[in-house]
Order: sequence, then C-alpha cells, then structure tokens
Amino acid sequence: MRPPSSAAPATAPTFDTSGTVLFRVWHPSPHTATSRTMRRYGPLYRLDHHPPGPTTTHAPDGPTVWYGSASLETGVHETFVRGADTVTICAAHRVSAVVIDSPCPTVPLDAAATRQRVGVPDDIGDDLGVDVDGYATTQAWARWLAGITGVDAARYWSARHRARTDRRHGINTVLWREPGEWREVARHRLTDDAVWAYVAVALDRAGVAWERMPRCGRC
Ligand SMILES: [Zn+2]
Repeated sequence: MRPPSSAAPATAPTFDTSGTVLFRVWHPSPHTATSRTMRRYGPLYRLDHHPPGPTTTHAPDGPTVWYGSASLETGVHETFVRGADTVTICAAHRVSAVVIDSPCPTVPLDAAATRQRVGVPDDIGDDLGVDVDGYATTQAWARWLAGITGVDAARYWSARHRARTDRRHGINTVLWREPGEWREVARHRLTDDAVWAYVAVALDRAGVAWERMPRCGRC
C-alpha cells in the first residue's frame, strides 16, 4: 500500500453516523472500563492515529481511538478471527450495542467514489497484507484523515469479515474523536444464551474453533 504523499485535502465528504448502532466486542481491562472507553495508548491497530513510532503508554492528553462494527458477526470476526486456529472466549468477553447521539461526521471509505475523491488507497481498510508488513502505512493514512477539519470518524470494509468468495462484506467504523453524547443500548456476555449462537455460527463460518472458559489470560 502506498503511503500518503501529499497534504490532506481541506475537506472531505462525510455523513453523520449518529443514530447508527455500532457493535463492540470487548473484554474489560484496567484501561477499558466500559464499552465506550476510547483507547489512548498506541499506535497498535490498523487506523490508529497516535504519533508514529513505539507504542505510547496511556497518555491522558493523547489521541484517542475506538472501533465498532455494523454487526455482531463482524465484531466477532474482528476480535477473534486473526490467524489462530482456536480462540478462548471467557465469561468476561461481551458485546455492547452503542449508539452515538451527537453529530459524528464520518468519511465513508467503504464507498469507492469517496476513496477516489479523497485520494486514499482502494484497500485502506481491508488489505490483509498489513498483517505481514505491520500497520505503519495504514496508521499514516489514519493520521492524514483524522487531521482533516470536520472529520471525526471513518467507515471502512473489514479485512477480517469477508464473504465466502473473499469479497468485501463486513463494515467497521473507527472514531478518532469521542462523541459528545453516546450510550450503550444493550450489553451481553458473549456466552449468554441470547447471543452465543450468533458467536458460534460466526466462528464456525470462519473456520475457527473455540474453547469457553470461566477466565482467560486477560482476566
Ligand atoms: Zn477473560
């Protein structure tokens, strides 16, 4: 993937994500107390906009990032379908449905016309080659995009949740700025009867085996 070679445009086309349900699969930790805790340390993942270089520690005034998916199935893929044949799902793993209530201008990178108009690579979200080469280039694009005035977030194709024919399928949203108002509208443990069937089917379809444990290495 090519890195940004020019200054970002002054503006970019956006839509308002507020009102949309975003699913987040997560595990509580000292730095992730709630489903809406923005991560301050980084860069770690694909579209983190933290400064380049070694991963920073928790910085109270640093950039913050949050990822959600358009469906529970995509969230399960993003969290667990990352190369391991078997994954551990513990009693603390949960899925939250989150809704943003304040305006959240979002660049729709899942739309080819937007990618062309803004000038970002066609595969910015779903290039699995970054698993080998690292996320330095996609993170450079994240900083480039997050620096555009009036852009708080981006929507993009999931690299993890593909259709059977390897076509694009799942959709994610990355937030680069915390919404003024957002709320959790539902939360379940992944092992709850209400959602476990969906989790199991998603993992089955991805060819990933699971073990259910009362605790895991992150507990
Ligand atoms: Zn655990």
